[in-house]
Amino acid sequence: MQLNRPLNPTERVLMGPGPSTVPQRVLRALAAPTLGHLDPEYLTIMDETRQMLRQVFQTNNEMTLAISGTGSAGMEAAVCNLVETGDEMIVCVNGVFGGRMKDVAQRFGAVVHAVEAPWGQGIELEQIEAALKAHPKTKIVGIVHAETSTGEHQPLEAIAKLVRKSGRLLIVDAVTSLGGIDIPVDKLGIDVCYSGTQKCLSCPPGLAPITFSPRAVDAIDRRQSKVTSWYLDVSMLRSYWSNERVYHHTAPINMTYALREALQIVLEEGLEERIARHAHNYRMLRAGLEALGLEYIPQHSLTTLNAIKIPAGVDDLAVRKRLLKDFNIEIGAGLGPFKGQAWRIGLMGASSSQANVMLVLSALEQLLVEQGVAVERGAAQAAAAVANKSVASLV
Ligand SMILES: *Cc1c(COP(=O)(O)O)cnc(C)c1O
Repeated sequence: MQLNRPLNPTERVLMGPGPSTVPQRVLRALAAPTLGHLDPEYLTIMDETRQMLRQVFQTNNEMTLAISGTGSAGMEAAVCNLVETGDEMIVCVNGVFGGRMKDVAQRFGAVVHAVEAPWGQGIELEQIEAALKAHPKTKIVGIVHAETSTGEHQPLEAIAKLVRKSGRLLIVDAVTSLGGIDIPVDKLGIDVCYSGTQKCLSCPPGLAPITFSPRAVDAIDRRQSKVTSWYLDVSMLRSYWSNERVYHHTAPINMTYALREALQIVLEEGLEERIARHAHNYRMLRAGLEALGLEYIPQHSLTTLNAIKIPAGVDDLAVRKRLLKDFNIEIGAGLGPFKGQAWRIGLMGASSSQANVMLVLSALEQLLVEQGVAVERGAAQAAAAVANKSVASLV
């Protein structure tokens, strides 16, 4: 340790499960002068941020805000505001983050009925139908849209419709999808949707965008007991984010600037165009990885995160160390049962670019050859280029 050296972090190519690369514009926003949390100028910035969040969530929900904390704080806020001790909740578990939602719900006193699927597979509509039938007192259903531990993309249309029709409340984890994969909150009829800033929004970690439907707000208003978290109690946060401006806790002012700038970048690009860019770069990367002989884990892959099997005999840690040291690239390791079994390559926000696709493919090609894997030199780039062209010709 050398405490008196100047701080000088390396500019990495961030291709893991988040954080993604943060654009200079967002970093400059962080460095803008700190205002007071009740300064009229700051209150205007808050209002603008909320409005932009509504656009990105594709919602008209009044109760749309940013929780102070990372994506996990968003998960806790979603759960703790809806759950009262003894409430029954169905939680879908097919990876680490579904498992985490179950744990969070239990900690806040919910009686959890887990609906499970093998890792790398999606949750089927029939499973939720059966669980609702078996547990008619269920108040809430929780599900992860983009399961970052397995790369599985969970379709929501039919499930959201079913939950809405049955009169239950639906919580959706959109941490790895908001700003990268379409998640139209109002159209789907989601009651609470939360995300994080450091994944597809390409902002540093520290805030959790969240939105509550009028039905969810109504349920919160009808609670018999106080929310068991003081910090995340939306009935109190609402007084600060609304025109009352009642102090609750000091907002992370400069992080709000950064989020506002990151959202501005999303809206300048256009939500639809941004989602299409993520899909395009995913197809290129997938073609390249498969040309290297690498196999995808999920049944329906996310376009924002690529979970692939590490080939037999390849040293996981050695490859990731070399990627970081010699190529400056960060990718993610496997989580939970996938530890040592999987690599997770993120293409999120600003990190989702053709240049990054080509860079990670050439680095992996080199390292796999060194690890003794039979790889055809140049095949990955060629396959990615073909995918690039064939996708481009479609638009
Ligand atoms: C990253 C992630 C989280 C947790 O977010 P943090 O910002 O790390 O707290 C929750 N859910 C999913 C699906 C994630 O990918």
